[in-house]
Amino acid sequence: MANTIQFLGAAEIVTGSSYLVSVDSVKFLVDCGLFQGEAAADRKNYRPFPYDPSKINFLILTHSHLDHCGLIPKLYRDGFRGKIYCTPATFDLAKAILTNAAQIQEHGVTDRQLEALFIKRDATNSFKLFETYEYGKVFSPISNIKVKLNDAGHILGAAIVEVWIGNSDVGSSPWTLDIGHYGEAVKLVFSGDLGNSPVPIMKDPTIIKEADYVVCESTYGNRLHEPPSTREKNLLAAIQQAKRDNAKLIIPSFALERSQDLLYTLNNFRNNGTLPDIPVILDSPLASEITDIYKRYTKLFDADFQRYLKTDKDLFDFPGFRQTRTVVQSKTINELTGAAVIIAGSGMADAGRVQHHLRHQLGNSKNQVLFVGFQTPGTLGRQLLSGLKQVRIFRQRVIVKAQIKELGAFSAHADQAGLLKWLSGFTSQPIVFLTHGEDPAREALANQIARQLKLKTVIPVMGELKTI
Ligand SMILES: [Zn+2]
Repeated sequence: MANTIQFLGAAEIVTGSSYLVSVDSVKFLVDCGLFQGEAAADRKNYRPFPYDPSKINFLILTHSHLDHCGLIPKLYRDGFRGKIYCTPATFDLAKAILTNAAQIQEHGVTDRQLEALFIKRDATNSFKLFETYEYGKVFSPISNIKVKLNDAGHILGAAIVEVWIGNSDVGSSPWTLDIGHYGEAVKLVFSGDLGNSPVPIMKDPTIIKEADYVVCESTYGNRLHEPPSTREKNLLAAIQQAKRDNAKLIIPSFALERSQDLLYTLNNFRNNGTLPDIPVILDSPLASEITDIYKRYTKLFDADFQRYLKTDKDLFDFPGFRQTRTVVQSKTINELTGAAVIIAGSGMADAGRVQHHLRHQLGNSKNQVLFVGFQTPGTLGRQLLSGLKQVRIFRQRVIVKAQIKELGAFSAHADQAGLLKWLSGFTSQPIVFLTHGEDPAREALANQIARQLKLKTVIPVMGELKTI
């Protein structure tokens, strides 16, 4: 029987990552992500899985972003009982992220919500299925399949997944695959989401040399990020402007990774004396919880981080910084009269406390809103970035006078050059499946891969099945 891979999400779009790999009678998933963005994307989450979850043997989770792990509780609810493999940090983060997502589902806080996709009990039950492996450890979920997780440099715990599929025709004899000389086995590599090197905190994505097939993300396949020095300069300039204008700088930020990046960068500004005297408020209990998890895994971070840690024991905290853990504390931010930097979720401004701040602050032309991550079509973030002068928040019309800005290089995703650099590490001429990108990004990247790397690319559509 032919081995196949089916693209069940993150094809044509950047969310809902999920791949189904079938090897004879064995079926496994890589990621089981939530679709995010427009109402049509939302509705996809409610459709039955296009397979019987109880027949899936195991799941490999690349990382803890919702668009990669967000449907795991639903998968459990619908009968999946296999193991879920990921790194220890991904498991810790996924627990926080999925518990929070379940709370949001139960309380129905999104405008478009049809019904709860899953409840907290489904999330908690799914946690029993997790089994963790450190980067670089080879493990074998099933006799003829071996897996290794490698640092993707994207967010804490994120992995590039190597999968070796042995020839099961060996019958009852033990499968002895010598990794590194994978001979007749088929080797798949899933990039997961690749880090944006050099980005604060994270190491560079691990270079992999051999594969028959690479499933590669392409979020920024048609873009180049500004250099890190520009990013820091622009962030600092926005803060200085807020101080000068006695105004608010609102940074909608993903609780996971982007908030920690920002705190780390602001902490560095404070240590080198460039940060103006201005209150910095993190208004996201989830981001605070995740920052605490980051503090437990500092050994995984890059050389700069290790060096700074020698003279500053907490690289996510500095004078003038405070966190609001309760709703009452959050509401007091509205009464702040002077300049302030407010970091609040969600990162695409389509939910969370940042919506309250935007409703209060968008009408003032001295205020700034600074986006630091990818904005999916249909989100309030994308609407603001596209220049709309009027938006709806909590079903109310809000006039936009504030200055809307973007810092691309704070992205946790590699840009076109970064993706090409990572792919250039392969010496085995793999076939590259481009996923996790909108079509213009995938097409532009495919052209560059053909031109620069001479590799064959495939741009799968949603649901497409390929023989491997
Ligand atoms: Zn991600």
